Amino acid sequence: MIFDGDYTMTIAGQPAVSDKTLPVVNPATEQVIAQVPDASRAQLDAAVEAAKAAFPVWSARPVAERQALVAAIGDCLLANKDAFSALLTAEQGRPRAGCDWEVATCVDWCRAVSTFTLPVEVRQEAGRRVEIRHTPLGVVGAITPWNAPILMAIWKMAPALLAGNTLVLKPSPYTPLTTLRLGELLRDILPPGVVNIVTGGNDLGQWITDHPDIAKVSFTGSTATGKRVMESAARTLKRVTLEMGGNDAGIVLPDVDPKAVAPALFWGAFFNSAQVCVAIKRLYVHADIYDDLARELVDYARTIRIGDGSMQGSDLGPVQNRMQFDKVRNLIEQTRAEGHRFLIGGDVPEGPGYFIPVTIVDNPPEDARVVTEEAFGPILPLLKYDDIDDVIRRANDSETGLGGSVWSNDLEQARRIGERLQTGTVWINEMFAFSPHAPFGGHKQSGVGVEHGMAGLLEFTNIQTITSRPLAAAAG
Ligand code: NAD
Repeated sequence: MIFDGDYTMTIAGQPAVSDKTLPVVNPATEQVIAQVPDASRAQLDAAVEAAKAAFPVWSARPVAERQALVAAIGDCLLANKDAFSALLTAEQGRPRAGCDWEVATCVDWCRAVSTFTLPVEVRQEAGRRVEIRHTPLGVVGAITPWNAPILMAIWKMAPALLAGNTLVLKPSPYTPLTTLRLGELLRDILPPGVVNIVTGGNDLGQWITDHPDIAKVSFTGSTATGKRVMESAARTLKRVTLEMGGNDAGIVLPDVDPKAVAPALFWGAFFNSAQVCVAIKRLYVHADIYDDLARELVDYARTIRIGDGSMQGSDLGPVQNRMQFDKVRNLIEQTRAEGHRFLIGGDVPEGPGYFIPVTIVDNPPEDARVVTEEAFGPILPLLKYDDIDDVIRRANDSETGLGGSVWSNDLEQARRIGERLQTGTVWINEMFAFSPHAPFGGHKQSGVGVEHGMAGLLEFTNIQTITSRPLAAAAG
């Protein structure tokens, strides 16, 4: 029922609308499917005020109660999984199977995070008790992108709440619907003010990073915006966690069977129409198997149906928005103009819908834009190499360092290569193996800090050291 009707923000546990609204477009049809509030600065202030007011009681609750409520968020997502998944397809464009995965992962995350507790270390030193504990920060501002909106929201919300913080969360203006619905459902689960959901444009993000009563910004999005977030957060010395873009390399060793490995490589590059921060964005293939693997990838790509994600049989949907569509189409045009060969794809149809065919580029030079830039859309350069040291150098020759993958039957050798990649995550013979227990973050300009695991949880805390000794010792 809740999935019918207007979309409202959640401020202090209450629905909130705005004088102004923003249209939300289904990327498969280019139809406006909803209008959402465009929050005013006063509404952001009200959301922050509500989060600030809720903080003392929320942070003082026994951790077992916060654990139970984080688990309850997961239960709520599970109870509404089909509705969330369908809505996600409508706003994001991805076919249902991928949306089911996103919602199921949210549920798993809430359950896993609900088992976490904040560690306390106690030491005895020279007659003194030294206690090292972790305290919540206060109000966390969470800012999320459009490629996996509900998962990105849960990745911030679950640990922030578990650690005792309250939240003001702003989804991307392109994909606000699932997050707004989650906020509506959480009104019956969480005390007022603990989670506030506000929608608006990029200005609203900027106001969050400026706000004096927000203690931390947890941001996921592009590197360019992340730099602006850090700059703005510096003025009030907010803590920041920044999860940003990457130009991840996959390295395929000559010992793999091209036919067997092609589907995993394909999905590692093109899942969600390649709008994944850690998708394979440059695929380095040993010269011995380059032609065979190129053929297998193309054969596999020919079996993939691109279409409206809500239609049975669509494997890949459109890219999410007009801006991204234009950006990727421009990259394809420039790649063609530079004379590089397409193994498949390259012809972008006229709309309606932001559909871009799977496009694979045949061994362009290392300095081509399609190699040096994060496309964030379904165009993949296939690159030839002969020498391991050289391919590692090429993989690391990037300002970003989010993820990378190595593909081989020789796990030892693959691991040794992985250790030399300058990235926060390395996957060997798999992709997207996220875990609530394993820290995830970027090296270099891909990130500051991490999400997930104990390290991710502790980013939502301050360290507090309390030392004590008997008064008699002071008197003596
Ligand atoms: P984006 O940077 O344009 O927007 C992200 C969010 O920031 C949106 O909510 C946006 O409204 C907000 N925003 C924009 N300007 C702002 C400002 N000045 N201050 C504060 N907030 C502002 O990113 P996007 O296009 O939505 O997402 C795509 C990018 O996100 C890609 O580069 C991708 O690699 C990256 N990404 C990274 C991860 C990760 O975990 N590392 C995950 C998903 C996506």
